[in-house]
Amino acid sequence: MDIPFDPTLLFIGGRWQAPRETLPLFNPSTGEPLARIARGTAGDVDTAVAAAQAALDGAWGQLTATERGRILMKMSALVLAQADVLARLEALDVGKPLKQGRADAVALARYLEFYGGAADKVHGETIPFVNGYTALTLREPHGVTAHIVPWNYPMQIIGRSVGAALAMGNACVLKPAEEACLTAIAFTHIAQQAGLPAGALNLVPGLGEEAGAALSAHRGVQHISFTGSVAVGALIQAAAARNAVPVTLELGGKSPQLVFDDADLDAALPFLVNAGIQNAGQTCSAASRILVQRGVYDSVAARMAERYRGLRVGPALDDPDVGPVISERQREIVNGYLALAQGQGAQVLAQPALPTGPGYWVPPTLVGGTDGAHRLAQEEIFGPVQVLIPFDDEAQALAIANGTDFGLVAGVWTRDGSRAMRCARQLKCGQVFVNNYGAGGGVELPFGGVKRSGHGREKGFEALYGFSTLKTVAIKHD
Ligand code: NAD
Repeated sequence: MDIPFDPTLLFIGGRWQAPRETLPLFNPSTGEPLARIARGTAGDVDTAVAAAQAALDGAWGQLTATERGRILMKMSALVLAQADVLARLEALDVGKPLKQGRADAVALARYLEFYGGAADKVHGETIPFVNGYTALTLREPHGVTAHIVPWNYPMQIIGRSVGAALAMGNACVLKPAEEACLTAIAFTHIAQQAGLPAGALNLVPGLGEEAGAALSAHRGVQHISFTGSVAVGALIQAAAARNAVPVTLELGGKSPQLVFDDADLDAALPFLVNAGIQNAGQTCSAASRILVQRGVYDSVAARMAERYRGLRVGPALDDPDVGPVISERQREIVNGYLALAQGQGAQVLAQPALPTGPGYWVPPTLVGGTDGAHRLAQEEIFGPVQVLIPFDDEAQALAIANGTDFGLVAGVWTRDGSRAMRCARQLKCGQVFVNNYGAGGGVELPFGGVKRSGHGREKGFEALYGFSTLKTVAIKHD
């Protein structure tokens, strides 16, 4: 194992510092200890928030938007130059196949490039008002922003939230997940190398209920961006409410893809399967429900099953199609759901072979025969499990698609443009893809959910509004 930095350190106020205690990380492909990371305390969070505030009051707060943008661009170039190193770290830490980790690194670079370029293009407006006044709006940073990040896509989530927050001139405190945090640490090194002023980015790894809870409750924090489970999202929103600060919550989903009889199945097929098994299904926008019109149901089921049987499952460094899940706990959760995949009409249509050695393996599983009410079709599994659900007509497809607590993403496959538009309007979710799914990463496309999938929008230009506040100025003059 070659981790090109000391992962045990915290980064506060521009200095790497030793923590009081450390926590273990494990390699999901082997189950073996990988490294130790800092166990940040409430005291560390306090120091980090103070350092962020000092940066806002000091050098970081003095930079122009163009200067902030140039630093982000430099970070982007450094991330791109290190993409293979970052992919390897993600493979070791998350169990993510190398190609997928590299795609995440490239996406991180793209977020930094996008937000670097956008930093000096966000502006207020002048407002027609009563005679003798000039009224205008100013876009200003919130101040200190908290970024609580999960283990499944650390690089992409850091890119979209920290990238946008820095572009708008906020100072960030980043709390990565205790299960996987090496690329967050590497990213922080890169930010330092790019010349980001001290305190603009502070890193406090640690436990959710300790460092995460302290950060979300801290009175010095002016905005919280959280991606993770619904249960923790609710805790974070409650903590933010006590301080009356805004939150962006991205809490996962049970995203459907709707395949109509007239769909181009050759085009659809790779998207149908990849959107379910990518990152071993541990993706908030995973298409875990495939709704198929009866006329093509058997054909879609057979073709997807064939793909499933050909999937290569293995250690992340071998760059398989599907790696391990993040932890023993996650494996138990997914296996608990797989126990429901037999009976009540449900049947396993395909499962490829698993490696025999150690590692947190779960079989990618295609399940047929369920209806929209089945637990496998209602709950977020966060594993490589997809359910196929037949439907008769558009109205039924929409009812099933909208019939969960979640509403993050949906896909529609049809050659009928009017139907595509009707579905796009009636699907209750934050993003709809027509005849594609995921749209090449979608850095430019606003992203977020409705219902239990959360609220607020990250990605795209829209995120810059979320990471800033609007001040109105009315000037009376002659
Ligand atoms: P989680 O919500 O517990 O953890 C996400 C982040 O929140 C981590 O950084 C964690 O340290 C932090 N956290 C945990 N408890 C906290 C608290 N009390 N206060 C503040 N921060 C806290 O998610 P998990 O345990 O890693 O995964 C559990 C389930 O969540 C998964 O099975 C999956 O369904 C869902 N999940 C969704 C996403 C997503 O992208 N939407 C990502 C990860 C997990």
